[in-house]
This record gives sequence, C-alpha cells and structure tokens, in this order.
Amino acid sequence: MDIVTGFMIWAAEASTLGVLLWSRWFYERQPFYLTWGAGFILHGVGVGMVGLRGTLPDFVSIEIANVMALVGIGLWIAGMLQFDKRRVEAFIAIPALICVAGMMLDPVRTDFGYRVALFHGAAVIGYLMLIAAALWGENGHSRTRRVFSLFVGIQVLSSTTVAIYALINKPQSFAAGNSSIWLLLIAAFCFMAAIMSGARLINERNEQKLRLLAVTDPLTNLLNRRGMIDEFHMLKRSHASDSGLMALIHLDLDGFKQINDLYGHQAGDEVLVAFARIGIAAQRGRGSFGRMGGEEFASIMHVANMIEAASVAEAIRTTLKRQPVTVGEHQIPVTVSIGIALAEIGSANLDTLLSTADRALYVAKTNGRDRTAIGTDNDVSIVPAIDHAETESTPVQASMTQQVAALRRIVAIGK
Ligand code: GH3
Ligand code: MG
Ligand code: MG
Repeated sequence: MDIVTGFMIWAAEASTLGVLLWSRWFYERQPFYLTWGAGFILHGVGVGMVGLRGTLPDFVSIEIANVMALVGIGLWIAGMLQFDKRRVEAFIAIPALICVAGMMLDPVRTDFGYRVALFHGAAVIGYLMLIAAALWGENGHSRTRRVFSLFVGIQVLSSTTVAIYALINKPQSFAAGNSSIWLLLIAAFCFMAAIMSGARLINERNEQKLRLLAVTDPLTNLLNRRGMIDEFHMLKRSHASDSGLMALIHLDLDGFKQINDLYGHQAGDEVLVAFARIGIAAQRGRGSFGRMGGEEFASIMHVANMIEAASVAEAIRTTLKRQPVTVGEHQIPVTVSIGIALAEIGSANLDTLLSTADRALYVAKTNGRDRTAIGTDNDVSIVPAIDHAETESTPVQASMTQQVAALRRIVAIGK
C-alpha cells in the first residue's frame, strides 16, 4: 500500500462517518452532530483531494485541499465546545489560518516538503486545541475524556514527527515518503480510537440524561419520588458522621381537586408549578424539594433541630397563603397542609419517617388544613401559627417570640 491509497481510505472513512453523524442529527437535533459531521466530511474530502494530486488542478489539490482538511479539524474543536454547551469562538479557525498564511509565502507554497511540514504543524496546533477543549470541558477529567485526549495526543506526536521529517529530508513527492507509511497507520489507528472514545462520550452523555429523566418530574422539573428516595440515602451518607436531625416534610395542597374542578386541569398544573417554585425558594438550596406524586410534595433536609424544620415548613405555608397563584385572569387562593417527621441522622429510616410525616399531615388536615403538624414517635402536635391566632385561643397579637416559645415546648414534648 502506498501513501496515496492510505489517503483515499482515510478520506472515505472520514466522509462516511461525517454522513453518519449528520443522519444522527436528524433524530437528536443536537448542533454538535452537525458540526462534527461537517468536520469529518471536510477533513475527509480535503485529505482525498490531497491524494488526487496530479489528477486535480494543483491549486485545488494543494491550497484548497489542505485548508479544507484543517477547517475540518477546527470544526471538531467547535463540536467539542458545543458538546459542552460552551460558545464557539473564532480561535477554531487558527489551524486553517496558519495554513493560509504559510501558503502565501512563495518558498513554502512551491516546496512539497515545506507544505507537508506546514500542514502537519497546523494540524498539531488544532489537535492540541482539541485536547484542551476536551479536558477543560464539563467533567473534564472523566476517564473517557482522558482516553480521548491520549489518542489525539499520539496523533500530535505522529504529526510532529512527519513535520520534522519533511523539514529535514525535504521529500519532493508522496512517493518519496512511502517509507513512512507506518506513521500513516499509527495516525489511522489513533483516528479510529479517538472516534470510538468520542462515541463513548456521547453515549455517557445520553445515559446521564436518561438517569436524570428517570428521577425528574416533567411538569415541575423537581425530583420525583424515586429521586427523593435516592436523595434521602445520599443525604444520610453525606452526613453520616454529623450530629443533627434528618427532617422529612410532607406537603399536600388543600382542596386541590376543587381547584381542578373550578379552574380546569391546566390551571391546576400551573398551581403545582408555582408551588414548586415557592418550595425551592424556601429551602434555599439546603437538602432537596421534590414532588412525590399528584399534589403531594416533600422536602428532605439536614437540620439542627425541630424548629429549623418547622420554620422552613411555615415559610412555605405562609408564602403560599400570601400569594394567590395567577392563572390567566384568575387569582387562585391556595393553601397547603404539612406534616413533619424527624430522626437522628445516623439512624433515620425512610419508611418510618414517611409514615410519621403522613400521620402528622393527617392531623394537619383534620384540624382545618393550612397547618403544619409535627409527628413524634407517639404523638402529633400542631405548630402554633400567627396567621391562625384569631381563630384559635392564643391572643390576637401573637408574636414571633411566642411562636418560637411554643415551638420550644413542642421540642420538649418530642424529647
Ligand atoms: P385535601 O385537601 O384533602 O388534600 O383534598 P384534595 O382535593 O387536595 O385531595 P384529593 O386527593 O381528593 O385530590 C387530589 C387531586 O389532585 C385529584 C387529582 O385529580 C389531582 N391531580 C393529581 N395529579 C395532578 C396533576 O398532575 N395535575 C392536576 N392538575 N391535577 C392533579
Ligand atoms: Mg393528596
Ligand atoms: Mg390535597
């Protein structure tokens, strides 16, 4: 086999791969498929045109072909940036521009050896940029990205060797370089290996998406029940050596069926989304807030004490009460009933927490709804709330201090 045949095989492989990537784009509509596809096609056609030297006019098989192959490398870098959802910058044109600039110099353009060195030098710059893009991306140090970079790295060494060889020996045609066919084989091997690890990167991304989809509620984008169960175990593990409590807050919207009946299912959905936002905001990034199903939500948190858990629950309850949900021209008043369960973080059991919180929630519901109740092993207490002062026996001017004092009493009972 001579180098020109090698070029043709290379060109056919790269172009086929490019077409495959484009066809994948039709299904997934991710821009990086389009960019990588264009990169492989341009690179492949460019390399093929270099191989057709003598058959094609020189300007096409030299200047245009080399620049096309290098624009292809630039597009691989661009695709990697898009894959990581980063902006594509003008620097991806550097390899092709180096080639264009070099070709403007007469001694370079007219000498075969210099042209080979110029092409491979520019390609090395492109490969190094590709490695940098892969390693500085999201998950930059994943195993697959390191393997990918390793193969591109071998390609850098191979191209550097070709460039140096061409500078020193000044070959005057491809035939003179046939003894270095093994370099082409190394390059072909790295090319395939890099493509395979690139394909693996795409697969890993898709698997990650599927995993995320399996634990996400599509309406609110919150974690679903399954995601919350995973979250419980993760939180427990990450606080294994900490003191404090695990709090499970179970929230159920009041009279939600009636909201659906009065305003329609679509409005009901919007209420769920609005409530999800309130829950997330009240939680302020601590622990997790998820949708357990229907109009039931839950929050899992590591807290120092019962008051902390009750404060988050009360913040959610009172915020929701203060802000009717606007749907079209309707202002829908919504309230929520809440049950809280707590356990030492080290010995927290999810089933026990769920059933205790459920019991507390039931008490909150049967005591008029729009309330927070805290469940302990064998008792449930309603959290005294300022907004219920008028309807309850506590004085109308109940203050925050009174509320905290009342909570402290509950803590004492709970112990
Ligand atoms: P309570 O105060 O006792 O909790 O009464 P409720 O009406 O909220 O409770 P119930 O369990 O009787 O009704 C829950 C309703 O939630 C029934 C169901 O149609 C509705 N629902 C469940 N999932 C969804 C959803 O995704 N979107 C909408 N719009 N409604 C839902
Ligand atoms: Mg319910
Ligand atoms: Mg309900």
